[in-house]
Amino acid sequence: MLNAVKNLLTRRQIIGSGMGILGVGMAGLVTRNSPAIAQPAYKPAKEPPIPDEKKLGWAVVGLGKFATQQIIPSFSQCKQSKLVALVSGDRAKAENYARQYNVNPKNIYNYENYDSLRNNPEVDIIYIVLPNGLHAEYTIRGAQAGKHILCEKPMANTVEECQAMIAACNQANRKLMIAYRAQYEPFNLEAIAIAQKKQLGQLKAIVADHGRNLDPKDPADIWRMNKKLAGGGSLFDIGIYSLQAARYITGEEPTEVCAMTYSTPNDPRFKEVEENVNFILRFPSGVLANCTSSYGYSSTKRFQVFGSNGTLELDPATDYYRHQLTVKREKVQEERQIQEQNQFALEMDHLSESVMQDRQPKTPGEEGLQDVRLMLAIYEAARTGRTISVDSRE
Ligand code: NDP
Repeated sequence: MLNAVKNLLTRRQIIGSGMGILGVGMAGLVTRNSPAIAQPAYKPAKEPPIPDEKKLGWAVVGLGKFATQQIIPSFSQCKQSKLVALVSGDRAKAENYARQYNVNPKNIYNYENYDSLRNNPEVDIIYIVLPNGLHAEYTIRGAQAGKHILCEKPMANTVEECQAMIAACNQANRKLMIAYRAQYEPFNLEAIAIAQKKQLGQLKAIVADHGRNLDPKDPADIWRMNKKLAGGGSLFDIGIYSLQAARYITGEEPTEVCAMTYSTPNDPRFKEVEENVNFILRFPSGVLANCTSSYGYSSTKRFQVFGSNGTLELDPATDYYRHQLTVKREKVQEERQIQEQNQFALEMDHLSESVMQDRQPKTPGEEGLQDVRLMLAIYEAARTGRTISVDSRE
């Protein structure tokens, strides 16, 4: 088994994206430096970037693990977006990043003077990378300050918060996009195309699993154990990727959900939020999706699609840097060769382009609202032991 994995890795390294061994974070085989320093060597995109002065200016709110290790370094790969401002509760940290990424220190804000971003014409778009329970407040304040918003997933803790975010952006005539990076990532896009062009025949089933071991020593995991800040447990944080995969692969909205949860008794990590959720979604075409989400099993981020004429597997499906897509049809198995690209840069540029062209982004607030609605239905199904009917989007 290990040899098979090693062979696969070797093959991918040779024919793959030029990511090199640093891009392959398989524990025990290779090690990866901090991704902030070890950005993989992506193939340059075909079209040249627009001149710097024409790129839209972005403010990043919340300088935590994800913002500093993935998002901020990815601006260097953007063609239509540039980092111009930082918002943080920690001035010294913000000054450090401002120096590192050439942000003018006058463009450092905190949570109190955040609203004065309205007076800064350099900032067009605000990217909210705060704990989930703060997404609604900072999206609404950002829209009221006249800025377009990219908000991290999950959109918010409740349906009411999501609706208020959408209303605030509509009222201010600003775009609202939810940061569903997988929907901008080339391997996932290829999987969607294969499924929807019926290359696997009639879709029958999807299996999607997303989990990791929550680490109470990691500062980024502390708020994830707090219901008010996190909204939920593994489902809200990573099970949402399984839910998303089932929705974007079918291109349909589920009509029914059933679910079970389990949290290890007396595990202090799960006093407020759940550890495991297994859920089933029924789609109108008859596809059933079996999904798992866990804060207790080791890192897994994959999905499989089963059709009448073939199957596909994307594993990893939602990694930051590496993906592997295997398609099997009529006993022939093929590993798809696709160029890895910086999905964060693609995602941010999508919003910049949507703003410049005054178009609705591909993953607007309504997309985030739908997931929150479905995740709450999944919790209800688990709590009541019933299958819950879910209305299509209103
Ligand atoms: P972190 O805890 O690392 O970062 C959150 C940052 O928010 C903190 O560093 C802090 O920044 C700021 N903050 C403000 N108020 C609070 C508070 N009360 N408690 C904790 N932090 C606070 O979390 P992550 O970076 O992992 O996650 C942030 C968001 O990004 C979440 O919504 C998460 O779901 C999402 N995410 C998305 C990923 C994806 O792949 N799309 C991957 C990982 C996370 P400061 O000190 O600058 O004020």
